[in-house]
Amino acid sequence: MKISDINIRIVKDSRNKDTLEAVLRSGDFEASASVPAGKSKGKFETTTLEPSLVLSKFETIKNQILNKDFPTVWEFDGFLISTDGTKEKSNLGGNLILVLSIAFTKLLAKSENLQCFQLISKILGKTPRKFPYLYFNLIGGGLHAKDSLPFQEYILVTKFPSPAKGLEYAKNCFEKLQEDIEKNFGEVRLGDEGALTIKSDDPRVGLQVLNRNATGPEVSLALDVAASTFFENRIYNLRGKIKSSDDLLSYYNLLATSYPLLSIEDPFSEDDKDGFIKIVANLGEKIWIIADDLTVTNPDLINKAQKEKAATGVIIKPNQIGSVTETLEAIKLAQSYNWKVIISHRSGETMDSFIADLAYGVEADGLKSGAPTQEVRLAKYNRLIEIERNF
Ligand code: PEP
Ligand code: MG
Repeated sequence: MKISDINIRIVKDSRNKDTLEAVLRSGDFEASASVPAGKSKGKFETTTLEPSLVLSKFETIKNQILNKDFPTVWEFDGFLISTDGTKEKSNLGGNLILVLSIAFTKLLAKSENLQCFQLISKILGKTPRKFPYLYFNLIGGGLHAKDSLPFQEYILVTKFPSPAKGLEYAKNCFEKLQEDIEKNFGEVRLGDEGALTIKSDDPRVGLQVLNRNATGPEVSLALDVAASTFFENRIYNLRGKIKSSDDLLSYYNLLATSYPLLSIEDPFSEDDKDGFIKIVANLGEKIWIIADDLTVTNPDLINKAQKEKAATGVIIKPNQIGSVTETLEAIKLAQSYNWKVIISHRSGETMDSFIADLAYGVEADGLKSGAPTQEVRLAKYNRLIEIERNF
């Protein structure tokens, strides 16, 4: 496909921070993309450059892109990755490469008269038949919410075959939680992802409140502990309550017997691989042990973690690795290990709903897109519902 025009501009994300939007054209077709930003980031994520700097970098490659013909996403991404020439994409910026890569994928799909998810599933040789479980972060803490709980995300997982049913359940549950928290903890505020906050230092409180408002066979609970964010000098500092890696493991064993936990994400720090290995050995048969900071959507790190039995599933965030094709490679690899694959948004989001097409197209096990309150989060859940209704 030959691209006839490209425009990149700076737009605001949900935290009112600058980010990039790209609009690509090919003949009569047009597609746009915008990229999110994380706050509790893994150490080995690709480089995000200042959007204003990216604009000038882009000018240096724009004509080269317009002069070439790219038959596939592999060729397009390959060109950008080799032009950048660094492992961490620090030359052009992972954010520039990804925004172009997503817009190109959408444009190619349109030019082939396909939905974006159809192009993705065609690339992977799949026929999608099931919707992912929906991961709604309903109670937030950690770096995403000041004056709230120490763990980052207390998640309602809806397992209905229909995403419309899942979203309806989550909206009702959110309202019940809001009343419960107002009554029992006073003031209710929202964190970065639109999740409710609770003024408490006790990590268990989030699970207690969520559990009493979310019952039934079609729902489970999940945690994103984001433990790298409170790992200091090789100990876990939970608001002054010091825990060793083994203490934290015993704590998770206790939580696992008290609550219907489907998965725990980042139970240990990315610098505490032993913690991951121990929890897989202890709880891996019962609960999905999901790596995020540890693997950062990077096929090499996923491969390493699998060899060491350090996880049984993985969070996939396209902007951790910085291109669509590398994201697909990471997913393919994880699925070849029979790992669970959860596609995720970032805490600073845009209206782009690419990750919903990605989740459906690869038959992911989960889609994590925050609380059903902010437009940027709903855009992803609603895109799944659109797919459910129309295809
Ligand atoms: C996460 O840790 O899974 C997350 C979505 O947070 P952030 O985007 O801030 O890294
Ligand atoms: Mg995480």
